[in-house]
Amino acid sequence: PSGVTSTLKRRPIAADRTNTLRDYNERLEGRDLLNLVVVGHVDAGKSTLMGHLLVKLKVVDDRAMHRNRTEAARLGKDSFSFAFVLDESEEERSRGVTMDIAQAQFKTKTKIVNLVDAPGHKDFIPNMINGAAQADVGILVVDSRRGEFETGFEYGGQTREHALLLRSLGVSQLICAVNKMDTIEWSQERFEEIVKKLSAFLKPSGYKDADVTYVPVSGWAGENLITPNSPPLSWYNKDESTSNTTVNGVIHGATLVDLIDRLKPPERPISKPFRLCISDIYRATGVGAGTVSIAGRIECGGVEVNERAILRPSNDQVTIKSIQIENTNVTSAFAGDTVTLNIQGVDPTHLFIGNVICDPEYPIPCATVIQARIIIFNISVPIIPGTPAVFHFKSMQEQAKIMTLVEELDRLTGELKRRNPRLLPKNSSGVIELVLHRQICCELYSDVKELGRFMLRQSGLTMAAGIITRIIA
Ligand code: GDP
Repeated sequence: PSGVTSTLKRRPIAADRTNTLRDYNERLEGRDLLNLVVVGHVDAGKSTLMGHLLVKLKVVDDRAMHRNRTEAARLGKDSFSFAFVLDESEEERSRGVTMDIAQAQFKTKTKIVNLVDAPGHKDFIPNMINGAAQADVGILVVDSRRGEFETGFEYGGQTREHALLLRSLGVSQLICAVNKMDTIEWSQERFEEIVKKLSAFLKPSGYKDADVTYVPVSGWAGENLITPNSPPLSWYNKDESTSNTTVNGVIHGATLVDLIDRLKPPERPISKPFRLCISDIYRATGVGAGTVSIAGRIECGGVEVNERAILRPSNDQVTIKSIQIENTNVTSAFAGDTVTLNIQGVDPTHLFIGNVICDPEYPIPCATVIQARIIIFNISVPIIPGTPAVFHFKSMQEQAKIMTLVEELDRLTGELKRRNPRLLPKNSSGVIELVLHRQICCELYSDVKELGRFMLRQSGLTMAAGIITRIIA
């Protein structure tokens, strides 16, 4: 058969890297690095919850919080003062929605957490995909108020779509924060009702029971975020017989932070070749001529200051002049780190978001024709050969066309249903060949998960999620 089915050789970690690897482990202080995305229906309270959490963890100091309160009051939006911690831009503040992805970092006992706050507004789903594509784990926030939970969950709301999207993008662990408990008198009955509804949906969506937990919280009141024994949740705390054991995903007494602490760390593919997918490009400041700053997450391998790398697809040879993590200079960085690199030697006209900086000895493949396995969402018109779509991959979007329908598969078992189907209907699964308008740098899902998964959208709706199974051309 034509096409590349595996490209990736494992690169041994060079002896001269073991020192920097030790630095890396020291930087993590024995903690695991976790990229966390927060999703849920608009107004479920995502920004307020995470904003209040950052305040309680003292990531945001009192002065900044005071500023947020004053600013919120000035705009007549007092109830958004915690959300302002994350909603940075003036436009977001005045509209009261989170439009772009704000990033913050916090530490718990066992984790260093990079927070990707994804927006909940319908128009902004592409941004949410970018956030989700960087995530290892997710928090799904739901509004517990009667009617509100149902709006977000049952009647065209985003709760289900977000949960499905996350799962399709490889996120397998989920914390469901049942929020605004203050508005329902901290009701155990209502909490349990919501847990039941969510778990009945999440299980057939591909989430294993053991990987989903549920926690009652109030982001606004700050209850059950980091301090245990939240007084109004006495039914949740005092149940001695069940404390610290998981019953249907509920661990009585566990706070939101406890649940984050209990998440399993993702695999860090540090022994694979270096790949960083560019999500932002800046002009470098004061580092010398010919230097450009780029930002992104290291998907695999590692990089050191003064190392050489190449830019794909242009093949410009570059030198890494400096590496920053969270505005601090470091000498090396590895898979899972979100970094800014100053690079020299690149022709700025060759540089685009979605390009990849990588190991020159093991360059990443570039493709215009790929084979992929996709899961199709609840679309109104079936997919046929020639169906156009927008290909969402990492931080980029590209025009694409579904050229060939290779197979229809059983959605749940993955077994072959028919070859060369005439169409792929809603809620089905299949293998397709996809032609991209322009070259993209990608990997097979089996080689590097993070660089092998994508979404297909059309007229503002998500059609399908997929993984790359073969690079054809
Ligand atoms: P997002 O769109 O999911 O980020 O939601 P926001 O964090 O912007 O919150 C939407 C609205 O819900 C704001 O007016 C918040 O003050 C309010 N809100 C958020 N969390 C809570 C909560 O725990 N209790 C109450 N009563 N209101 C909340």
